[in-house]
Amino acid sequence: KMHQCLWKKNSPQHDSITTMLNKYVGFATLPNQVHRKTVKKGFTFTLMVAGETGLGKSTLINSLFLTDLYRDRKVPNAEERIGQTVDIIKHTIGIEEKGIKLRLSIIDTPGFGDAVNNTASWKHVEDYIDQQFEQYFRDESGLNRKNIQDNRVHCLLYFISPFGHGLRPIDVECMKALHEKVNIIPLLAKADSLTQAEVYSKKLKMRDEIKQFGINIYQFPECDSDEDEDFKRQEQILKDSIPFAVIGSNIQVDSKGRKFRGRSYPWGVVEVENPIHSDFLMLRNMLVRTHMQDLKDVTREIHYENYRAQCIQNMTRPLSAWRNSRNKLIRGSEVDFPLPLAAVDTEMERQIFEKDEELRKMQEVLERIQEQMQQSQTGTC
Ligand code: GDP
Repeated sequence: KMHQCLWKKNSPQHDSITTMLNKYVGFATLPNQVHRKTVKKGFTFTLMVAGETGLGKSTLINSLFLTDLYRDRKVPNAEERIGQTVDIIKHTIGIEEKGIKLRLSIIDTPGFGDAVNNTASWKHVEDYIDQQFEQYFRDESGLNRKNIQDNRVHCLLYFISPFGHGLRPIDVECMKALHEKVNIIPLLAKADSLTQAEVYSKKLKMRDEIKQFGINIYQFPECDSDEDEDFKRQEQILKDSIPFAVIGSNIQVDSKGRKFRGRSYPWGVVEVENPIHSDFLMLRNMLVRTHMQDLKDVTREIHYENYRAQCIQNMTRPLSAWRNSRNKLIRGSEVDFPLPLAAVDTEMERQIFEKDEELRKMQEVLERIQEQMQQSQTGTC
């Protein structure tokens, strides 16, 4: 319409624009359509934190998302922590930035590794992750697939103590128990309690241990060869910074006319968002700006797919076993039925099997009674 108004019909400009529009199919707007739709729907992201009490998990989360998620928090005392089981608490907040909505869920695992007996204390965390996969699997196989709520855990921030010599056995065991289920990002907590040289050597040691113990932490995607050099360099810096050394604070420090989240000491101030002081900014950038979608993709394509495949295998194995035995009973031969692709109502199938078994037993009893009657008849004759 516009070009019709601007240029007279049959003018050279009008002709060239008409030719261009005729060649232009319009699929170049596809990204815009996707963008509009996803923005309308909003985004969701679920982040889990784990590590022993006091390593600064809640403070870091507040600092990362500039919130105060833990206002009503009750910190357990030493006595409560001796026999503590891990309570999983979920906080959900809606954040909006420039019209983009993000529903952020933080899964907190307070007291993790605090009890005297920590054997399998990560079991609750593992169960929680599995439950979310299970719920998603059920919803996906159900009738109403339109409004599925995705509560799958997309990332686990695993806090490692700065006071130990590298990883503790519980860190190794926990990460190994969870690495096939969730994207683990290890963090060196309270980095302000270490010198720069200590941070460097601890990171090196932890990276070595992660490799040595075969822990599969989240792998940053490989750069394409045609990416620009600056991007490749940034990605390499990210990979070399694992575990990210972080500092958190709930306090605004006022120093030299500037206000910032930081920690104030007699010898100076530590700025949470200063890249020289910690990797906090790098972590936030990668979590929110650069790798959130990849974390979600890996969760969906690898961790959830693994769970789904395992689930289907577990569902079909006993089912095909009893089907074969039932077929044997009914027809006297073993027939291999193709398995339905849709989710099977295993409870109903189990009940049918039980009824079959009951019938078979009753049949046996009847046959035995008949035999006895026949024997007693021949005896009296
Ligand atoms: P959580 O139990 O792991 O959630 O730990 P909290 O966030 O409650 O922090 C426990 C204590 O450590 C609080 O007194 C915090 O002020 C302090 N803290 C949190 N983050 C840091 C940090 O990065 N450095 C230092 N030195 N202290 C921190």
